[in-house]
Amino acid sequence: MLQPEGPADLVLTGGHVHTVDSGRPRAEAVAIRGERVVAVGSAAEVAGLAGPRTRVIDLAGRLVLPGFQDAHVHPIFAGVDRLQCDLRDGRGRTGVLEIVRRFVAAHPNDRWIIGSGWSMADFPNGTPRREDLDAIVADRPAFFPNRDGHSTWVNTNALELAGIDRDTPDPADGRIERDPDGTPTGTLHEGAGHLVERLMPEVTADLMTDGLRIAQAYLHSLGITGWQDAIVRPEDQAIYRAAAEAGWLTARVEAAMWWDRERGDDQVDELIERSRTGSYGPFRVNSVKLMQDGVLETYTGAMIEPYLGADGAPSEKRGISFIDPERLPGWVTRLDAAGLQPHFHAIGDRAVRECLDAVAAARSANGHTDTRPHIAHIQVIHPDDVPRFAALDVVANAQALWAAHEDQMDVLTIPFLGPERTTWQYPFGSLLRSGARLAMGSDWSVSTPDPLQAIHVAVTRTAATPDDPTVRAPRKDPFLPEQAISLTDAIRAYTLGSAFVNHRDDDTGSIAAGKLADLAILDRDVLAPGAEPVSLARVIGTFVGGASVFEDPSLG
Ligand SMILES: [Zn+2]
Repeated sequence: MLQPEGPADLVLTGGHVHTVDSGRPRAEAVAIRGERVVAVGSAAEVAGLAGPRTRVIDLAGRLVLPGFQDAHVHPIFAGVDRLQCDLRDGRGRTGVLEIVRRFVAAHPNDRWIIGSGWSMADFPNGTPRREDLDAIVADRPAFFPNRDGHSTWVNTNALELAGIDRDTPDPADGRIERDPDGTPTGTLHEGAGHLVERLMPEVTADLMTDGLRIAQAYLHSLGITGWQDAIVRPEDQAIYRAAAEAGWLTARVEAAMWWDRERGDDQVDELIERSRTGSYGPFRVNSVKLMQDGVLETYTGAMIEPYLGADGAPSEKRGISFIDPERLPGWVTRLDAAGLQPHFHAIGDRAVRECLDAVAAARSANGHTDTRPHIAHIQVIHPDDVPRFAALDVVANAQALWAAHEDQMDVLTIPFLGPERTTWQYPFGSLLRSGARLAMGSDWSVSTPDPLQAIHVAVTRTAATPDDPTVRAPRKDPFLPEQAISLTDAIRAYTLGSAFVNHRDDDTGSIAAGKLADLAILDRDVLAPGAEPVSLARVIGTFVGGASVFEDPSLG
């Protein structure tokens, strides 16, 4: 379609355009005027829109996609992580300890040593010990959440400061890892980490602002033009708002306000007020994050049937429903009635069921509102619940990178689920076949935010980059290959699917005349017949509303 009113500001031509728009799925060129796409078509159709001041980029056969939108990500946390002691590049226990040693030496005056990003697979039984930290830093508390944020490694100084010893009971929402005599080992699961965390110095607003700045630049370099921040506290909201007002928030951001599970109904009015007054420019505040359980690796994911023990027999453990499942339906109904979107975290099949039940209650009380509830992570879904996503119109928010054989899956998950429930994991194929809507996100800093790596796993069900130190893949065979989805379905989920979750599908998520020009340019056409794996491609240009936010020199 052509809109012949004056020349375009930008023309991308001579390549492949995968629009995610059913009206015109493939094209060769895109023309942009101001912040919007004015034409999508053949090179000849678009050529007439180039004037003397138009920037024309020769795509040279490369691929244009709608900008990716990450439907579940933690950019401020992740950016701050990068500015603290970041363990993500450490290989093995020794490599991790070497990073700590260098950081401690370089920060002699910090009152606390704070970092994050160790991997359970690097330590025996997934639980590192305080003595390893004590040997490097004994005079100050040290605090290190792991990569998924569900377990925390601390030194003896931190345990003593928090008064945690063999007589300290486990908190209701967590567990203190102990030696047989009850002595804490130095790993604290879930809410047990808060016993130390509450004593830590506050992360300053300046550090959070710097974190958001480097996170945004990094996400743009991966073709990401918008996201949903999955934990937004009032202090995070203030950082985004200030960035939007100052004009440097270039991404389109939806905020999921954190539901404080120590409180109840009394917080709803505050959330409504934050939503009513919080939005500014590209920043919107319309979602509420309800974290319903933990993770399987620490037995805090909420399961219908018990986990298996080390002997293969059912244990006592069924995980933890963080929010009272009796009260969740009423609270979700109230949020939904107020126009706020429920954004759930659910890993275990019981948590998934509790979230679906809550939406069912809201639907029957409020009718079919447009709040677009979504459930992130969806690791184990009971087969009876798969069709309920489509029936209740709940979006499946997939972190596809995790759906592969790697140590966390093979050593720390499959033995404790057993053979039947192992096959219920990450059933993206079944969800699509049942008519469910699919969105995608990364959960960065838990995992890489690179959409092409996640899409690779969604399509192949194998780890994207076996040589990446953060991915350990002893097996190359696909994980439940019948749950693989097509490349076009995966791209659609990471663009239009996430745009739907963010209530931006009317304006973004596909490339069509009249929509905002949010675009990602890849260095190759990954959709060409016989193309190499999508994980080998990389983004060389990113535009938001027609403005360049990332360019590799090779873009030209
Ligand atoms: Zn998350």
